[in-house]
Amino acid sequence: MIPVVSKLPQTGTNIFTTMSALAAELGAINLSQGFPDYPCSPKLIELVNNAMKNGHNQYAPMAGIMPLREQIAIKTEKLYGTIYNPETEITITAGATQAIFTAITAVIHPNDEVIIFEPAYDCYAPAIRLMGGVVKSLELEAPDYRIEWDMVKRLINNKTKMIILNSPHNPTATILHQEDIDELSSLVKQQDILILSDEVYEHLIYDGETHHSMARYPELQQRSFIVASFGKTFHNTGWKIGYCMAPAYLMQEFRKIHQFLVFCVNAPMQYAIAEYLKDENNYLSLSGFFEEKRDDFRAGIEQTRFKLLPCSGSYFQSVTYDDISQETDSEFAIRLTKEAGVASIPLSSFYSKGTDKHVLRFCFAKKQETLDRAVDKLIKV
Ligand code: PMP
Ligand code: GLN
Repeated sequence: MIPVVSKLPQTGTNIFTTMSALAAELGAINLSQGFPDYPCSPKLIELVNNAMKNGHNQYAPMAGIMPLREQIAIKTEKLYGTIYNPETEITITAGATQAIFTAITAVIHPNDEVIIFEPAYDCYAPAIRLMGGVVKSLELEAPDYRIEWDMVKRLINNKTKMIILNSPHNPTATILHQEDIDELSSLVKQQDILILSDEVYEHLIYDGETHHSMARYPELQQRSFIVASFGKTFHNTGWKIGYCMAPAYLMQEFRKIHQFLVFCVNAPMQYAIAEYLKDENNYLSLSGFFEEKRDDFRAGIEQTRFKLLPCSGSYFQSVTYDDISQETDSEFAIRLTKEAGVASIPLSSFYSKGTDKHVLRFCFAKKQETLDRAVDKLIKV
């Protein structure tokens, strides 16, 4: 064997892969990894078939096909009031994961500091570290997981290059509020700090709340990479297609990396999604659809000994289990999969220090029947 110095020595297989594999091995109901167990729209599949039959089977343009970029620009202007130039400010990516990696790679240099909020989605920190950047993480406190902006202020210094935000938030299901936007705006105002805003759950927001996209606020929009995922929006996580929007000066750097990372993303799906986006109901109906699932699932969990945490957005519901066990969340999640037959994600895996507050995350993007069966099993715990 040739000696290799690992670039990510602490990293193993991620928790989503681990828990989904365990669920499959044991035949447990998989409420761990975030993906739907029902099919995506047949119309969308027909549109992909048509695109293939119509010969769209060669490389797409590097930044994505123009009709799709145009539809994204139209949707963004309609929802958030900002005009992105599809020519220079929107790029189609292989899911949000690639958009996040590309944005970080484009702007983070060795010793640049990046602020992230934990629990944090798992792909931010490794990308920062691979670029030689320094992760500055701030832990949020249950049950509200609100950002303490005074604490953020204390972390900022002349090495701070970026703040990564994620609203609606995975895994805590919280959202940014207007006060957060005001605090953030005043904090970054006189500073050269970029924002990477992970908005993959932009359409999954409940109780009539507003999604505070960075695209709504000119002073924040001008310093932001915004990333989105069609996998989340159109129930087809396996297609791995998403996009990034950023002002031209940032997008120029983003594309320099994008062209060598993937060059371009599969063409037929792009044609299909461009067509599908023309009907705004295809994305505006999502919050109603998932709010119903959230409410049913929460009503089910209320019959168990698990305690619900708030859920304002995303398709995740977190719970505490202190009345049931004092095991670590990882031990308990594994035992729950083995003995109760329901797989979840332990929240400690979203913290760099493995902070364990005895919280598990369930994904409710599942058929009613799946959720009912899961609740029946959880009631017995
Ligand atoms: N960000 C968050 C918060 C996520 O939950 C996910 C998982 N879908 C991603 C990014 C990655 O999205 P994609 O599957 O489009 O790469
Ligand atoms: N976003 C999904 C989740 O949070 C998982 C995606 C993945 O497996 N990387 O569960």
